[in-house]
Amino acid sequence: MYRSHNCGELRASHSNIEVTLSGWVQSVRDKGFMIYLDLRDRYGITQLYFDEERTPKAIMEKASKLGREFVIQVKGNVIERASKNPNIPTGDIEVLVSELNILNTSIVPPFTIEDKTDGGDDLRMKYRYLDIRRNPVKNSLIFRHKVAQAVRNYLSNEDFIEVETPYLIKSTPEGARDFVVPSRMNEGQFYALPQSPQTFKQLLMVGGMDKYFQIVKCFRDEDLRADRQPEFTQIDCEMAFVEQEDILNTFEGLTRHLLKEINGVEVEKFPRILYDDAMRLYGNDKPDIRFGMEFGELNEVTQHKDFGVFNSAELVIGIAVPGGNKFTRKEIDNLIKWVKRPQVGALGMIYSRCNDDGTFKSSVDKFYDQEDLAKWAEVTGAKAGDLVCVLSGETNKVRAQLSALRMELAEQLGLRKPNEFAPLWVMDFPLLEWDEETERYHAMHHPFTSPKPGQLELLDTNPGEVKANAYDLVLNGNEIGGGSIRIHDKATQAIMLKHLGFTEEEARAQFGFLMDAFEYGAPPHGGIAFGLDRLVAILGGQETIRDYIAFPKNNSGRDVMIDAPAPIDDEQLTELSLKLNLKS
Ligand code: ASP
Repeated sequence: MYRSHNCGELRASHSNIEVTLSGWVQSVRDKGFMIYLDLRDRYGITQLYFDEERTPKAIMEKASKLGREFVIQVKGNVIERASKNPNIPTGDIEVLVSELNILNTSIVPPFTIEDKTDGGDDLRMKYRYLDIRRNPVKNSLIFRHKVAQAVRNYLSNEDFIEVETPYLIKSTPEGARDFVVPSRMNEGQFYALPQSPQTFKQLLMVGGMDKYFQIVKCFRDEDLRADRQPEFTQIDCEMAFVEQEDILNTFEGLTRHLLKEINGVEVEKFPRILYDDAMRLYGNDKPDIRFGMEFGELNEVTQHKDFGVFNSAELVIGIAVPGGNKFTRKEIDNLIKWVKRPQVGALGMIYSRCNDDGTFKSSVDKFYDQEDLAKWAEVTGAKAGDLVCVLSGETNKVRAQLSALRMELAEQLGLRKPNEFAPLWVMDFPLLEWDEETERYHAMHHPFTSPKPGQLELLDTNPGEVKANAYDLVLNGNEIGGGSIRIHDKATQAIMLKHLGFTEEEARAQFGFLMDAFEYGAPPHGGIAFGLDRLVAILGGQETIRDYIAFPKNNSGRDVMIDAPAPIDDEQLTELSLKLNLKS
């Protein structure tokens, strides 16, 4: 028996009993005639005590040679400490060691295994198994487990069945590139790893499973962006015989359950906002609504003067920055520099200070008088003491720019509080999205999303205007879930694929199986998928997902610990009938 108790378990009530513990050496304080050793395992830290008078000499000697991260087993007596440590749960006791067994040695770890470590990101990724021994990472993984467990409990109670779907499939278009896997047995042919189990969950509905979920890995070969992983986990869900309202209620229920269970937070009914309104008020389809700062449209109150920049703009919009009048000139100049960075791309920023005495002072006083500026304040909802920031330009661009500024300011002003949760539904997304690069429409969600009732005809005349039965769940400025009511008849699906530029043959080759299934009594159905990694991070009060993933990839999609991806040898290539044609 390696242990009778774990390292987080012993209390004063265990005094005078003989215990066996196993774990890692966290630290040794050797005072010669007595040695204190912190023994660590997943459950905590227990202090071990060796002293010249009571500990056998051989053990004393052995103990003095122990290094950090050695794995040891000890037997000893629990004694109450003379000076207690209130900072750890086992701080009332220590174990007076009578037997010591070295189970394994360790070379000196490349960084300290402590909450605040001296190891940088790269080093910690390379030795992730050591990083996982640290509390912050360990606790994040435990937290993730709790969230996943709560999800499973809730959905199982609601009669959902967890069904596994295959990983070796063919392309499911979710808007990214596929990772592909060559098939040895089918020369020259490739599987695609699922970007999501989308078509399979729909087939499960045709199969009569009625309510499906799966905590599942998805794979998307997307361009690198901060805090994205090429493989990530979804809580993937689908329901039959449902309308949009049923889905929203069910998954609002799940989210509320998680907030309560995990964070102890009760949330009111989730607000709903139309996609068009989200874009108008926040310039963003995943607005953080924990702080106001809604956009005010200023065309009417700015375009009657001689200020050419505003006059020629398609849209002039502003936000009121609470308390922003206290910003110094330099701070405002920095904001202007910030919006002009290429990542944001604004040409400049106009501002108006709302003074405490009710007067205004703007950067364009030459063109706008007090009465004008009072209107800016009114439209943006600015009060005395605030600062109105105004951007102008082409509608989509300027909205994105002001949205970026709004988030930056909220961050700077500490308005994005990690322990405050503001979920909301964003509804009625456009069905299609124009892609400048390929000069054609793409499905904004995916090609299986149904248009709003009665809008199918619009596809021919004004495709960009067609709205979808699609919804996103947004939490604190992050999209945590998205889904739609699906098309469930072959004819509509065929029309949709045609509008997405598939020829009949292409549609048949790629989605024939789904269209065929729709001919055998497919029920009306719809669903949603949550991004588990991000959801866990937000519930945990963080915005980076990496710490919640046991073995994450770095920003170049590499696993630096196992050094993947890696070349394969010629023999393997031949077996797969592959020849490389490398560019460099
Ligand atoms: N498959 C979709 C996605 O991955 C979610 C859904 O429509 O249920 O975004």
